[in-house]
Amino acid sequence: MSEHYDFFVIGGGSGGVRAARIAAGHGVKVGIAESNRFGGTCVNVGCVPKKLLAYAADYAAHFEDARGFGWKSGKLSFSWKTLIGNKDAEIKRLNTIYEKILSDSGVTIIKGHARFTGKNTLDIDGRIITADKILIATGGKPFIPNIPGREYISPSNDMFYLPKAPKHVVIIGGGYIGVEFAHIFSGIGARVTILHRGDSLLRGFDHDISASLQDEMSKQKNFDLRLKTDIAKVEKKGTNFIVHTVGGEQIRCDLVLGATGRAPNLDDLSPPVDLTPDGKVKVNRDYQTSQPHIFAVGDVCNALNLTPVALAEAHVLADRLFGNRHRAVDYEFIPTAVFSNPPVSTVGYGEEDARSKGYDVEIYRTSFRPMKHTLSGRDERTMMKLVVDKKTGRVIGAHMVGADAPEIMQGIAIAINAGATKAVFDRTIGIHPSAAEEFVTMRSPVKPKP
Ligand code: FAD
Repeated sequence: MSEHYDFFVIGGGSGGVRAARIAAGHGVKVGIAESNRFGGTCVNVGCVPKKLLAYAADYAAHFEDARGFGWKSGKLSFSWKTLIGNKDAEIKRLNTIYEKILSDSGVTIIKGHARFTGKNTLDIDGRIITADKILIATGGKPFIPNIPGREYISPSNDMFYLPKAPKHVVIIGGGYIGVEFAHIFSGIGARVTILHRGDSLLRGFDHDISASLQDEMSKQKNFDLRLKTDIAKVEKKGTNFIVHTVGGEQIRCDLVLGATGRAPNLDDLSPPVDLTPDGKVKVNRDYQTSQPHIFAVGDVCNALNLTPVALAEAHVLADRLFGNRHRAVDYEFIPTAVFSNPPVSTVGYGEEDARSKGYDVEIYRTSFRPMKHTLSGRDERTMMKLVVDKKTGRVIGAHMVGADAPEIMQGIAIAINAGATKAVFDRTIGIHPSAAEEFVTMRSPVKPKP
């Protein structure tokens, strides 16, 4: 006996839960399968626990900085066990909320691993489901390259469940996951070495972001960055590991994190649809796969692996399929953040990016010591940058490395999405004294990068 649904969603992460809830709200019969925990990557092993751990790391600097403001504290200590215990309780709470949202919306929840057995049929651990329309929202998984000793390299998922805090972590990869964990581990007192094969951190971001972040990270104690460094192998020596670089260096540590990218998660799903050369589910602009009744959203198919992007795609799709509402996700000016130390945030085009798209650009940039550090004594600078289209005067990119960058950038992203020109930025009165006011006080363009 099989059960039939109008719409069946595979994967209870950001995209899947949103699509199921919105579709059910339009009155159709919806089911969802989740093989692990509801909330997916973001809630369980991504954005949420990562940010909680980053908050923990931030305190290290806050305690130090407080001295310049007259505070004197006793001997500090840190408990990884307390942090992880409290984090686990919060994630459990969120898992429950996600399930409740689904059941309150009338969605049938099936806990188990879904596999296609036909174009309209799924086997979920022996339970047979048929559906008119199916959504693949199975997300992504960490990708670790096939180097000798690969089994000793831990994926980012494991970082949230380490039994004890590491003392020296080697992080392979200088993308956003690598630099975020560098902040987390160095903040809680570990020594951190990043080994990165590229010549700058955060590939794909504006060059001034990479350069500023590198400068700031290099000033920090406990931290070592090696660029243009490839890994030859990883060995286990007792409870430690030895990471061998291609250049012949050996680095001893007690944890090796592989922050070497993510791959679409299609494990044992056998989707009867076409894939892209890099193994993602191939979709058209309407998130439709090569099978007209099978759709995909989120990390399993898109290029921008971000929770709000998966949510937006899912919402638009469910509204279009069942609510007769036709909208499209605008991918041009999507803000994003890196919770490094200091944090990074960006929206729109980087300088090189804008030029390669054919824009003639004017660049505004400032770098300053934040007011807080005049008393804290911390040697940290904030960098802000605007990329302006000379032809229209429109601001097409904003970039920042510095305290509160993600909180500041959300508002700037609204202005940029609304089409604000540099003249609009200029006539906006600043909030004084704040770092954010610098975004409306940059008056003279700087020389473009040669
Ligand atoms: P997911 O959330 O991954 O959900 C997919 C779900 O499908 C999973 O729960 C999985 O168990 C389930 N599943 C898979 N296969 C099957 C199957 N066959 N049957 C049943 N269930 C199945 N994004 C941000 O916007 N901000 C951040 O700060 C941020 N930080 C991140 C930090 C880290 C360390 C990582 C790894 C990611 C981070 N992301 C962040 C990215 C964000 O988590 C993803 O973009 C988002 O979760 C994608 O949602 P999704 O619905 O596509 O997939």
